[in-house]
Amino acid sequence: TPVVRLSGVSKTYGSTKALTEVDFSCFSGEVHAILGENGAGKSTLIKLIAGVVQPTEGKITVNGKELVLKNPSIATSHGLVCMFQELSLVPDLSVRENIMLGAPGTGFGWLNSKVVPQAESILEQIDGAHIRMSMRVADLTLAERQQVEIAKALTRNPKLLILDESTSALNSSVVEKVFKLIRKQRELGVGVLFISHRFHEIEALADRISIFRNGQYVETFDNGAFDYGYII
Ligand code: ADP
Ligand code: ADP
Repeated sequence: TPVVRLSGVSKTYGSTKALTEVDFSCFSGEVHAILGENGAGKSTLIKLIAGVVQPTEGKITVNGKELVLKNPSIATSHGLVCMFQELSLVPDLSVRENIMLGAPGTGFGWLNSKVVPQAESILEQIDGAHIRMSMRVADLTLAERQQVEIAKALTRNPKLLILDESTSALNSSVVEKVFKLIRKQRELGVGVLFISHRFHEIEALADRISIFRNGQYVETFDNGAFDYGYII
């Protein structure tokens, strides 16, 4: 079953066509990579799914529910977790506060502390044991912030996980540990949308690969059947 489905979705910004009549699905239990050059519409696709921007035309469903919401934190209640390239952590808050912010079962509150030990355990698994809960996010390196973001996302029990260059600052040994956790999510039936410029990461993780070009969906390949010379 699709965790997200776009039907005839277009998005224009003024006179710029960012996406044109896109039909696209990501299924439960698959890692679906999105490939395309700069300006292809990848960020727009993700922002539409996250509910951050509204489609000009067409319909988007997440978990079978039509998405009509603008607020990304509300999209979270649809079982969606996004990790944007522009990191979504609040710099002036501590790691602990960021992890608790909007945790499940708390509405938009700060109440659920169960997620903190869970996040600590995830951090340990991705070489982030040195990151203390009391540290201010602003004082962390980009790599450490990405580790925190990943730990936070995985405490949310998402149905759809969106990774937009979420491992760009991590070294390959940490990336492999993150991928191990993502494969575990896939086994649990989570759908994963994965945007990366690193072909070897796509090759290592993706089940299917969809190509976008100039705002249009072009084609979907099974990984293995995909020719990595395609884009060039
Ligand atoms: P990608 O993520 O693949 O690089 P984007 O979705 O960011 O592609 O952009 C697709 C097209 O839409 C580009 O031509 C880009 O300049 C344009 N675009 C994206 N966001 C905006 C915006 N907020 N205002 C105007 N144009 C935008
Ligand atoms: P990415 O690196 O993911 O491709 P971009 O560098 O294309 O992202 O865009 C970064 C941000 O700027 C995005 O939020 C996008 O929506 C916005 N943006 C892109 N193109 C334009 C544009 N022409 N006018 C306004 N905002 C834009």
